[in-house]
Amino acid sequence: MEISNDFHESIKDKKEIEALDKFKANLKEIINKKDKAFINPLILSDNDTLILFLRARKLNVKKATQMISDYFQWRENIKLDEIYLNYHFKEKHRLELIFPHGFHKLTKDGYPIYMQVMGHYKPEEFFKIATPEDISNYATKVIETAIREYFKICSQIKGSFIYGIFGVIDFKGINSSIMSKKFYNYVKAIAKLQDYYPEILSGCCVINSGLLFRTFYAACKVLIDSKTRKKIKVYGTKYQQGLLEKIDKENLPKFFGGACECPEGCLFSNAGPWKKSDEVKEKIPEDILKRRQEITHIMNTGKLQASPEDQIKDNEKGEIELDD
Ligand SMILES: [Zn+2]
Repeated sequence: MEISNDFHESIKDKKEIEALDKFKANLKEIINKKDKAFINPLILSDNDTLILFLRARKLNVKKATQMISDYFQWRENIKLDEIYLNYHFKEKHRLELIFPHGFHKLTKDGYPIYMQVMGHYKPEEFFKIATPEDISNYATKVIETAIREYFKICSQIKGSFIYGIFGVIDFKGINSSIMSKKFYNYVKAIAKLQDYYPEILSGCCVINSGLLFRTFYAACKVLIDSKTRKKIKVYGTKYQQGLLEKIDKENLPKFFGGACECPEGCLFSNAGPWKKSDEVKEKIPEDILKRRQEITHIMNTGKLQASPEDQIKDNEKGEIELDD
């Protein structure tokens, strides 16, 4: 993780500073002993990254040391730089039709927004195009791109350090097929990434959550660490106010109660300050473009309905409390 140097100014808490000193001494010893040669010595000067690992392990130095060792081992095993530079998931466009997703503009406090719509999921199509490993590699590439490119640009715009993605996940239209054991293995593969990307989620709104989401969440919550769980806000159909508290109207798609209508569809536009105007346009097959338009139309016209087997909760207050 390459991070700007001014973030450490935010480490003012005495306990954090003490833990950071111990953590560094620990790592120095390991590096000197060369028993974990894969730990990059440069990490010792990167307070910004070290503090993320410490905070993720509630300042427990021993656990944070284990976490960072596992992180470097994983980096080596999967050849992370290679994934960031050269990995292209060949079914990316078809995946976008099954789970429309993408980055779209910024929150009020300057974090990049990632949106995903779950209700177009068709298991038979999904399992045909991707293995859990594909999805994990693809997600790794997406996260690495955000860290190495988007966060930097967002930090420059804000004039202070930005590290984190704000998620908006729409569960309208899901059916009980997301409850399969096979699908659970994909969720598990993605959830594993939180061990390597501490604090990657700045916040998350789950919208249009109904009975099925609750069942799904109850099965998956063991995979999500408690700190991350606290960052997730859950809404039924009355989510607009909650989203507009975090996101300016012009940055929120019209279909989520905002005012944005990107010509190529907000879910597919990658709109944001990171979008390069001189980027060579990738040739996207006609049938994919047509399907994207259809999906955008379905979203804009509210034609994606809750499935009959789901009951979406309305809540006057907006946010819904889940059992922890
Ligand atoms: Zn848009």
